[in-house]
Amino acid sequence: MKRNVTIKNGELHLGGVAASALAKEYGTPLYVMEEDVIRRNMRAFRDSMKEFYGEGLVCYASKAFCCKEIYRIANSEGLGVDVVSLGELYTAHCVDFPMEKVCFHGNNKSEEELRAALEYGVGRIVADNLPELRQLNEIAGKMGKKAPVLLRIKPGIDAHTHSFIRTGQIDSKFGFALETGEAMAAVKEALSAENILLLGVHCHIGSQIFQVDPFVEAARVMVGFMADVKDQTGHEMSDLNLGGGFGIRYTDEDEPVPFAGYMGPVSQAVKETAAARDLRQPFVLIEPGRSIVGEAGTTLYTIGSVKEIPGIRTYVAVDGGMGDNPRYILYQSKYDMLMACRAEEEPDGAYTVAGKCCESGDLLGENVPLAAPKQGELLAVLATGAYNYSMASRYNRRGVPPVVMTKDGKARLIVRGESLEDLVKNDL
Ligand SMILES: *Cc1c(COP(=O)(O)O)cnc(C)c1O
Repeated sequence: MKRNVTIKNGELHLGGVAASALAKEYGTPLYVMEEDVIRRNMRAFRDSMKEFYGEGLVCYASKAFCCKEIYRIANSEGLGVDVVSLGELYTAHCVDFPMEKVCFHGNNKSEEELRAALEYGVGRIVADNLPELRQLNEIAGKMGKKAPVLLRIKPGIDAHTHSFIRTGQIDSKFGFALETGEAMAAVKEALSAENILLLGVHCHIGSQIFQVDPFVEAARVMVGFMADVKDQTGHEMSDLNLGGGFGIRYTDEDEPVPFAGYMGPVSQAVKETAAARDLRQPFVLIEPGRSIVGEAGTTLYTIGSVKEIPGIRTYVAVDGGMGDNPRYILYQSKYDMLMACRAEEEPDGAYTVAGKCCESGDLLGENVPLAAPKQGELLAVLATGAYNYSMASRYNRRGVPPVVMTKDGKARLIVRGESLEDLVKNDL
């Protein structure tokens, strides 16, 4: 396993706290987030913006992992955030997140969401389609405000990733297409709309991408489009939001590019294209989500039944599953796993790790190498910090597990687990 894990006396430690101590205090399943890893990733992105562009804004894509504490941390590191719903916006508002650093996304924002974005004073609303742009113009007019807008553009880049998380191609529910002239028409409409302040353009080509080229190509296309806009309308937009999507290591098969490996070539493409087209260097925003929180997270489970089906496979069932981690059932995602208290022991075989929901597809992994897992032992699933807690469900009426943050040998609860009373509190 190439991942950096901290093992002391044979036991996995997270932010300096032993896995068994965490399980004992908070129970399992348990989401554990390591604060130092999150802050290190945030700083790496922030510093590379400064290095490669001189300025710019890193907006943490909060859909990857959203709760009050992550907004506090993002704020203390000087980051902005992306939100995609009233719920995320409200959570950020609850901790006084500076609203001018918030980007509001979504392909079907409700009237309530658009109004809230304007009321809160969100810095950038990313308009996805013409009806939304018109509705926003109307709402802003009624509120006596100007809506700061970026237009979401489909740059026509096909990133090599799972089709469910690919978003840059023309056949996508997100944004305005370039090839068809739809994007230019939207720009012209935005410029003529009385209550819209067109700041720039946005693209996000997909997620868990390991190649640099699609990002470079997207940057070229986007700056080229900004230049086309200037040529055709005389309007020079300031903002270029290049989205997120940087791949992380889930298993040894994944080879992530270091952040600077993207930022260098992409910034060069931005600067060269701008210079060639007689455009000022735009104010660049990026929106990493997974790459900030993914590898900071670990989920701890207790193993229950171990069921060997001779000649076929051995099922290792844990006390969580698709409710706390739906990524396997959604995308057959792979994870590295460890016996948390015997973390240095060599695997003795490959196992199928199953959850406890009433679905055969409720697995956390197949062919997972593990060291003789036994009932009652702790299993750690690594790199679960992104799109696990935020995608959790209450299927089978199992409450969403708690989240703890660890740092310097201490753990603190940042999201309480759902109790039985929580599960029935809205039932009438
Ligand atoms: C999901 C999303 C992101 C973050 O993607 P990651 O793969 O988590 O980095 C950024 N921007 C937009 C618009 C998104 O939808």
